[in-house]
Amino acid sequence: MSEVLKMYIDGEWVLAAAGGERKIINPATGEVIATVAEGTEVDVRKAVAAARRAFDGSEWQDCKGSSRSKLLFGLADLIEEQAEEFAVLETTNSGKPLRESQFDVSDCCACFRYYAGLTNKPQGQTYEVADPMQALTVREPIGVCGQIVPWNYPLLMAAWKMAPALAAGNTVVFKPSELTPLTVIKLFELIDKAGFPKGVANLVLGAGATVGHELAVNEAVDKIAFTGGTITGKHIMQSAIGNLKKVSLELGGKSPNIVFADADFETAVDYALFGIFANQGQVCAAGSRLLLEDEIYDKFISRLVERARLIKVGDGLNAGVEMGPLISAAQMEKVLNYIKIGLQEGAELLCGGNRLTAGDLAKGYFVEPTIFVNTTEDMRIVKEEIFGPVLVVQKFTGEAEAVRMANNSIYGLAGAVFTNDGARALRVVKKLRAGITWVNCYHPTYNEAPWGGYKQSGNGRELGSYGYEQYTEVKQININLQVEPTGWFAK
Ligand code: NAD
Repeated sequence: MSEVLKMYIDGEWVLAAAGGERKIINPATGEVIATVAEGTEVDVRKAVAAARRAFDGSEWQDCKGSSRSKLLFGLADLIEEQAEEFAVLETTNSGKPLRESQFDVSDCCACFRYYAGLTNKPQGQTYEVADPMQALTVREPIGVCGQIVPWNYPLLMAAWKMAPALAAGNTVVFKPSELTPLTVIKLFELIDKAGFPKGVANLVLGAGATVGHELAVNEAVDKIAFTGGTITGKHIMQSAIGNLKKVSLELGGKSPNIVFADADFETAVDYALFGIFANQGQVCAAGSRLLLEDEIYDKFISRLVERARLIKVGDGLNAGVEMGPLISAAQMEKVLNYIKIGLQEGAELLCGGNRLTAGDLAKGYFVEPTIFVNTTEDMRIVKEEIFGPVLVVQKFTGEAEAVRMANNSIYGLAGAVFTNDGARALRVVKKLRAGITWVNCYHPTYNEAPWGGYKQSGNGRELGSYGYEQYTEVKQININLQVEPTGWFAK
C-alpha cells in the first residue's frame, strides 16, 4: 500500500484526526497517483490553534523583517534546487503542459524572492500635524491568515498567498484544492527544512465544504484570503462575518480581448490563442471573449481556426504537447455541457467541440480547442465563465461599441486591446472596467504589479506592494513632543 501523504500542523506531519483519505488522480491518464489525508473541521481547528500560538509566541514575534527575509530567500533556493521535480509533479497532478509548469515553478521562486526583498523596505509614513506632536504609521501583521486556493495554479497560488503573508509576519493555515495538493505538500517539506518556527505555516487538506468552510468561519482566524469561483467567494464572505475577519477574494472572469483592424495581425492571432488555450483555458483571466472589429473579422477567424486546429493536445509530460487535459471528469463534463448549450443557443461552432478519445487520450479528460462565432451578448456561453478551452467570438463596429460590449459582464478581472494606434489603446484600456489590462499582449503577469478584479471578480489585490499591504494592519502612533498636563479639567 502506498504511503498516505500527510498534513503539516504545528511543525508535525499528521494524518487526518478522523482517518479520512483521498485518492489523487492524474487527469491525463485517469490513474491514481497518490493518496493523501482528507482532513475535517477538527484538523483545521488544530491548525488554527497552532497558528494562533505561533503568532502570539515570542519566537515569531522576535523574527524581524531581515530574519523573515532570510527564511523566504532560503525557501526560494530550496524550491529552485528541485525545480524540475516540482514541474513534473505539477504536470502529473494538474495536467498542464510541462513548459507551463516549469514557468510556474520559476515564477513561484521569484514571488518568494520578491516578498523576501520587501520585508526590509520602508513601510510607514510620518505626518505633519497641528499640535506639537509627531504622528506616524507603522504596518503590522494581521495575525492568523486562512488561505484557500483552486487547482489551476496549485504551486503558484501557494506562493502568491504565503509569500506576502509570511513576509509581513503573519502565520498561515493554507488549504490547496482537494484535487491538486501534491506540489503544495512538497512545498511544505521545504518550509519544514527552511527553518520556519513551528506553527507559522500549516497545511490542511480536504474538501471546501468542510475544511475550507471551517477556515472561513473560525473566529480565531483574522483574515481569509480566497482564490476560486465567484459563487464560492460569496459563501466565504458570508462565512467570515462572525468575527468580521478581513476578506480578500480573487474570483472568476469572462475577460474581453479586443482586436482592432489596425493591429499587428499575426501578433493578435497568436495572443488570442494564448489568451484562451493556455492551461486549457482554466485561467481566471483567460481571454475567453474575443471581440473583433468587423473589417478584419473574416480574415481573423479563418487564421485563428487554422492555428487552433494545429494545437497539439496530449499528456503534458510528452514532448511537444501544447495543451493538456482538463482537471477532472466533472470539469470536462461542465465544459462539454457549455458547448452543448452554445449549440442550442444558436452559436456557430467553427472548430473543436468534442472530447478527444483517440488512443491513450480516452483515459484522460481532453477537450478540443473550441471556437464559437455568430454569438450574441445574451447567450450563456458569452456571459458565463466556462473555465475551459472554449473561445466565443463577438463582432463589433467602432471603438464605442467595443468598449460597451467588453464591459457588458458581471465580471471585471482582465481585458486586452490590440491596435497600432497608441492613443486609442490607452483610451480603451482606461475605459475597461477591469483590474488587469494589456495592450498588444495577453496574460503576462508580474510579481511587482497588483493582481485582482473589479465588479464580481474580487475584492482586494494580490502581488506587488498592494498584495503585501493586504496582509498588514496600519497603526497610527502619536507622540507628544511637549509633555505637560492638558489642563482640560479643573484641578
Ligand atoms: P472553487 O471555488 O470551487 O474552489 C476553490 C477553493 O475553494 C478550493 O480549495 C475548494 O476546496 C474551496 N472551497 C469550495 N467550496 C468552499 C466553501 N464553501 N468554503 C470554503 N472553501 C471552499 O473553484 P475551482 O473550481 O477550484 O477553481 C476555479 C475558479 O477559480 C474559477 O472560477 C476561476 O476563475 C477562479 N480563479 C480565480 C483566480 C484569480 O486570481 N482571480 C485565479 C485562479 C482561479
